[in-house]
Amino acid sequence: MLQFEDSAAAGAGLAKQPVMADRAPSQAPAAEQLRRVNVADKRIINGQTDVNQLVPFKYKWAWDKYLSACANHWMPQEIQMSRDIELWKNPNGLTEDERRIVKRNLGFFVTADSLAANNIVLGTYRHITAPECRQYLLRQAFEEAIHTHAYQYIVESLGLNEGEIFNAYHEVSSIRAKDEFLIPFIDVLTNPSFKTGTPENDQKLLKSLIVFACLMEGLFFYVGFAQILALGRQNKMTGAAEQYQYILRDESMHCNFGIDLINTIKMENPHLWTAEFREELKELFHKGVELEYKYAEDTMPRGVLGLNAAMFKEYLRFIANRRAQQIGLDTLFEGAANPFPWMAEMIDLKKERNFFETRVIEYQTGGALSWD
Ligand code: FE
Repeated sequence: MLQFEDSAAAGAGLAKQPVMADRAPSQAPAAEQLRRVNVADKRIINGQTDVNQLVPFKYKWAWDKYLSACANHWMPQEIQMSRDIELWKNPNGLTEDERRIVKRNLGFFVTADSLAANNIVLGTYRHITAPECRQYLLRQAFEEAIHTHAYQYIVESLGLNEGEIFNAYHEVSSIRAKDEFLIPFIDVLTNPSFKTGTPENDQKLLKSLIVFACLMEGLFFYVGFAQILALGRQNKMTGAAEQYQYILRDESMHCNFGIDLINTIKMENPHLWTAEFREELKELFHKGVELEYKYAEDTMPRGVLGLNAAMFKEYLRFIANRRAQQIGLDTLFEGAANPFPWMAEMIDLKKERNFFETRVIEYQTGGALSWD
């Protein structure tokens, strides 16, 4: 029989056994009983229950998001790119400013989802002790891979210079600055000696989750999404725009999952949410808005597609307020309004079209699998 006395490797997830030494043997429940998870004992962080026992459910919202994410499954190669290729190869098809937007966009995104995947797989996952949340994180990690695949597929379809696009995060300063802001928040969680369990380290984990959900997936993606979707609305680069629409839908769920995760950790650990901590977060939000605005200016030196950098200043402030409010921080920018109300419709794909009607590939089902 397996013995799980020492669960120093909490991430590996074998359940700790409660210490029963002070109980007389006749009163002690059977060992089988001790290993069974009591739902009330589950915790998002620093939990002592068996992380391999998905049920009984405590965090039903995480399980529901896992199911919704699976129901939204898509693959990049299902989307036709022939019109985009034709337009891109036509010297008069797009303006120089429009081409700059596409290339800068891919330059950021082609490595961004890989950073997000590293953060989940090598960092966040092992510090989360609720199996429902781990289940969603596994799905999310696969979606990050699909997104990297989608960007690669666009780069390949358009015949762009791969070296240039995949190195943009080293070579383009507005992209590099965003990634340099993020990397310390990944490194803290991926450090093998980092462990939660002290207020200081639990705050470090919480801060990293907030930076990823609210600033990376919740803010740094939005200038790029709005730009490509604006192209699509003008009937340009419609294949790329369709891919971005599916990515935006996934990302808004990543962001919402992250916010639910953050709020549940706050509820279970109210001592972490100090005035000093909130002050630190406010500064990070301001820094995030500033970096994303610099990126907007760099991608749009002039007005293009009815968009300009100044509109994005307002949009980023609007989004930052929304993220702050979602995790219980005060409004950061009084009176900021949304200049792009059409973006909300883009997130809700059902209004636009039924994804399944546009599918060109049938998924293999269990009964159709062939092993040769
Ligand atoms: Fe994501």
